[in-house]
Parts: sequence; C-alpha cells; structure tokens
Amino acid sequence: MTYVFAPAAPASVPVQGGGLFPAHRIYCVGRNYVEHAQEMGFTGREPPFFFMKPADALVPVAEGETGAIDYPSLTANLHHEIELVVAIGTGGRDIPAARAAEHIWGYATGLDMTRRDLQGEMKKQGRPWCIGKAFDQSAPISPLVPKARAGDLSKGAITLAVNGQLRQKGDLSELIWNVNEIIEQLSRAWVLAPGDLIFTGTPAGVGAVARGEVMEGAIAGLPTLRVAVR
Ligand code: MN
Repeated sequence: MTYVFAPAAPASVPVQGGGLFPAHRIYCVGRNYVEHAQEMGFTGREPPFFFMKPADALVPVAEGETGAIDYPSLTANLHHEIELVVAIGTGGRDIPAARAAEHIWGYATGLDMTRRDLQGEMKKQGRPWCIGKAFDQSAPISPLVPKARAGDLSKGAITLAVNGQLRQKGDLSELIWNVNEIIEQLSRAWVLAPGDLIFTGTPAGVGAVARGEVMEGAIAGLPTLRVAVR
C-alpha cells in the first residue's frame, strides 16, 4: 500500500558532533523542583506528574546560534521554563531506577514554553493542559550530547536569562524525582521507546517573555540554548 499523501518528515534533534536523533514522544515532568512548585501555589511536597507535547513542537537550535519562535496565538502570558532534557536510546517498561541509566542516550538543554494564562484557565476548569503546553514551537531544544560525553548531570547549575537578565536559577541536584526516578515512574505508565525525550521540570523563576526578547538557557556541561521570540 502507498500513502495517500506524503507523510511529514519525522521530528528530529541534531546531535553535537553530527547525526540526527529521531524524536518519538515528548514527555514532560510537572513541578519537579520544590521552589517552582511553591511559586505555582503548591507546597512542593506533592509528587511530580507527567504531561506530553507533540514531537513536532520541537524547535532545534544549533550550538552558538540564536533560534527563533513565533509568539504563539491566543495568549498574553507566554512563559519560559528552562529544563534538562533526557533522550532515551533503549526502550522498556517497568524500568527500575537502578537500571535507568542503561536506557539513556544523551542530554540536551530545552525550553518548556507555556501559555500560562490558558494553562491557568484549564487548571481552574479541571480540563486538559494541551492548549497551554502542547502548542506549535513550544519545545525549543539544543543539540543532543551523547551520554558518554556529557559527564555527570546529577548536579550542576541550570539557569535562564532574558535579554541578559537572570530569571531562573537552580541546581540539577534539586530535582524532586531525579533522572533515574523519572524513568522508573514514566516507564510504569508508558512503554518507553528509542527516541523519547523527557523534559525533567523547571526551577523557580518562571515568567513572561515578549516579542523581541532573547532567552538564554544554560545547563553546566551542555550546549547553551539561545532563542528569540519574534
Ligand atoms: Mn515544565
């Protein structure tokens, strides 16, 4: 059988040093840093949770370049959330935390862009977050760094500046669920597959960006992610 029209090219993320990582699904962890949970009105003692974005929401940005996203429709409160992204190379289900590292292919710096006003309205009404989280161009991402080259990412600074002014600042050691625990929890709920990307949650300091502003996200040991809003 042939396709009735040409299928879209698969979403992918360039790898530092060459090659393309084919993206499968994007999972995101909500409220995975205590201070961020608190700034969103929660105690930080609740367990984190998951939501998803479509893979074609990715906006890969080359190292040393400034990428761009369009200010999205329907919102007047577009927020930045800087996050460590974990790329899965070997799939599986019910993966224990102690074996999780074997499933990791690499890491990247990512932004979980959020239409905060729409997300807030959906929360209030008990409706799905898709319109607030899973919109077009909502997942800018740096090149992926293979695990062996990335070094230890269980600790290290994670920051985001807007037009050179520091907005978000945290440390990877502050994750409520660390990367291995995220993979354990996630693989109980879904069968992980090669190509899955996991946005691991954002530290405190989320806030709005406007057209013309430039976000610069940095995680120690990974490529800096620079994205303009146009
Ligand atoms: Mn997030």
